[in-house]
Formats: sequence, structure tokens, C-alpha cells
Amino acid sequence: MKDDMDYQKARERMVERQIARRGIDSPRVLEAFRSVPRHLFVPQHKREFAYSDGPLPIGRGQTISQPYIVAYMTEALELQGEERVLEIGTGSGYQAAILGELAAEVYTVERHQDLAKTASQRLQDMDYENIHVIQGDGTEGLPEHAPFQGVIVTAAAPEVPRPLLDQLDEGGRLIMPVGSRGGQVLKLYQRREGDFSVKALSPVAFVPLIGEHGHSAP
Ligand code: SAH
Repeated sequence: MKDDMDYQKARERMVERQIARRGIDSPRVLEAFRSVPRHLFVPQHKREFAYSDGPLPIGRGQTISQPYIVAYMTEALELQGEERVLEIGTGSGYQAAILGELAAEVYTVERHQDLAKTASQRLQDMDYENIHVIQGDGTEGLPEHAPFQGVIVTAAAPEVPRPLLDQLDEGGRLIMPVGSRGGQVLKLYQRREGDFSVKALSPVAFVPLIGEHGHSAP
């Protein structure tokens, strides 16, 4: 059984080798990855792999993304600390915790009741009072908490759900994997004077976003 010190060392190594060395250089982002205990977000029997360079299963056929991808998407949002951020696809809650370190308020939506419940409890146990887990179809966004200065979708669909673009604040950024079930490209949108700029970033493979404005069946 590893103790906390071993996990801390493994985490330092993850930040150095998998994240910093691959070009993520925002000090705030790197600090967030140093402080969130990723091993507490994976199933107990997978803990020894928590700091390895890949995704891991978290139940319900879903995965916690590779650390580097989480870092890459996080950095693209360019959070300064004052933002209200919306995440679609809570999963384990790890990405939400990272966002919780970097923004003022985080709203995260998960369609699976059991995953939402586990993540919510976990984040509460870790005293993340600025993270709000909501069970539901995230493709509708959360109009009651909009506008958001950052939106991150951690599941893939052929197009960005329109409600999510509508709920983006002026100057706000949205990142999401867009493409088929087989493969997608990360796309970064920014709202500018009512219009949207779009940049295609790297190729990725995410689980499907299932809902009213996403894929229709699991
Ligand atoms: N960000 C997560 C990993 C996400 S995996 C983490 O850090 O662990 C993608 C998640 O999106 C899955 O848990 C899946 O159930 C969820 N999901 C898929 N479609 C959704 C929808 N329409 N609304 C909310 N969550 C959805």
C-alpha cells in the first residue's frame, strides 16, 4: 500500500514528465495539477495507476481522461480566477477539481446519477465549496447560472450544443471534442462581439456526449 508521500512523488513526476515537458507552461495550471490528489478520483483498485500516462475506467463505461489532456484543455480556457465555469461530463470529478482550483465557481453536469453522486460526495469531502455537481442532460447547459466565462465539455458530439454557445459570456472560451464516435478534434471557441472564433486544436478520442443536443443513444 502506497502512502501519501509516494502519491505526492508520483504526482510531481506526472506534472513534470507528462504535462510540463509537453509544453503546458502556465504556472497556475501546473500548480493545480500538483495540488489535486488524482488517486482519490479513481476506483480504489486502480489507485496505483492514478498517475500513469493514460485514461482510466471509472465505471458505467466512462473514463477519467489522460492527465495531459485534462491539462491541455484546462490551459486553453486561460482562467484568471474570477470566472464562473461550466463543465459537461463530471465523471470522476477530477477535471472539476482542477477547475475549482483555477476559477471562482464551477458548475458541472453529469447524466449518470450514480457518477454524479459519487463525484459530489468526493468533492464535498475535499472541501471544494465552489464546485456544484448537478445531475442532468448537460447539452442543455445551465441557463439559470449563465453566462459562463468558460465552458468545457469532456464528452464528444458531432457539433457543439447550441445552448452551450448561447450561455457563453462575451470574451468567454469553450473547449470541446467535436467529431464522430470514432475520433474527434478539440475545438476552441471564443465569443467575440456576439460572433464566435473557432480554432481546431489536437485530435482526441472521447466517450460520446449523449443528450438532446448530442448523440441520441448510448
Ligand atoms: N471530466 C471527467 C471525465 C468525463 S468522461 C473526469 O474528470 O473524470 C465523460 C462523462 O460525460 C461521462 O461520465 C458521461 O456519463 C458524461 N456525459 C455524457 N453525456 C452527457 C450529458 N449529455 N450530460 C452530462 N454528462 C454527460
